Amino acid sequence: MALLVKKFGGTSVADIDRIRNVARRVVADYDQGHDVVVILSAMAGVTDGLIRLAREVTEFPDKRELDVLLATGEQTTAALLAMLLKSMNYPAESLLGFQAEVRTDAAFGNARILDIGAHRIRELLNARHIVVVAGFQGCDAKGNITTLGRGGSDTSAVAIAASLSADACEIFTDVDGVYTADPNVCSKARKLPRISYDEMLEMSSLGAKVLQIRSVEFAKKYNVPVHVRSSFSEEEGTMVVNADADMEKIVVTGVTSNKNEARITLKAVPDQPGIAAKIMTPIGEAGIIVDMIIQNPHSGGKTDLTFTVPKADYREALKIAERVGKEIDAEEVIGDEKIAKVSVTGVGMRSHHGVAARMFSTLAKENINIMMITTSEIRISCVIEEKYAELAVRALHSAFGLDGKNSDE
Ligand code: ASP
Ligand code: MG
Repeated sequence: MALLVKKFGGTSVADIDRIRNVARRVVADYDQGHDVVVILSAMAGVTDGLIRLAREVTEFPDKRELDVLLATGEQTTAALLAMLLKSMNYPAESLLGFQAEVRTDAAFGNARILDIGAHRIRELLNARHIVVVAGFQGCDAKGNITTLGRGGSDTSAVAIAASLSADACEIFTDVDGVYTADPNVCSKARKLPRISYDEMLEMSSLGAKVLQIRSVEFAKKYNVPVHVRSSFSEEEGTMVVNADADMEKIVVTGVTSNKNEARITLKAVPDQPGIAAKIMTPIGEAGIIVDMIIQNPHSGGKTDLTFTVPKADYREALKIAERVGKEIDAEEVIGDEKIAKVSVTGVGMRSHHGVAARMFSTLAKENINIMMITTSEIRISCVIEEKYAELAVRALHSAFGLDGKNSDE
């Protein structure tokens, strides 16, 4: 018999009917003799609602108290499911983060899991109970309630699966798996039967919202195979696993686009040691994370420096750039919010060449200008004009042979 960890996201527990659906799926496994640990998110929209409430109290809610508040979302669903299971005459028990001994650091709102004791979980499983754990929450060394960052119940599930050496970790969500591209953008996108941890990490950081990035890091570190699947169908989803030789044969696994960044250029700054540091230091000190940076030589001992920042930090970054620009005598500081980053990702890039060339010529054929380029071992990203993002995704999807059957055909 297997030990199964099953996590259900916010839309899967959005109301009592859906919680009944979760109960049905859970008892089906239990009745077959499996041990089942269920990890739950809050009902869809509840976490956002709690944040809004807190903001009605004060613009900057105290972070410790905010975590106490946010953790109630998952406490609610865990209690409701355990209650329902008991009413169906199944032995079940709900556990909050601290009761499952999910120990974290003290970074309220974005805590990291340090280790998981899971004694109560094991005891309950030994007594053939279905264990329902509130996701997204843990507790620090002082016993304070902490939360793991938005989407953090994915990480709760993977971490608990790792600590129990579970046979499977299933993440039930409202999509039926990981796709070669966003199906809303590209009608020829296909569901991937398997994807490697590294590809999933790249795609999550590029904005694919299927799994919280930290959960994938955890899964990779502890080698937990993660099955992403729909809670509304019995169909197999996507397995997130270690890369194997078959995966390396495929050059590109997925195409993504992301409109969450903005670009800032300082024109004709002195081409001298220390200038890049002068610009980037205050940006970093403001807590702004810079993604891409390029520098192109200009005539007359000058250079242009361009970088991208999250759109949410754009105004602040631009203000800093304008201030530093004056100090170092930049000719001009230009901001551009209408950009998109399109990326192709695949572990096969490690052993295939010509990927960049194919990407650039595909964009050129569509008359799309490339403003910036960055690469990792398994990814190439280009910044282009925002209005071409969808066109670029479709063209690249097709150029790298990812097109499936068109759903309109
Ligand atoms: N309820 C939390 C959130 O909305 C955690 C989660 O759903 O994974 O971010
Ligand atoms: Mg989620």
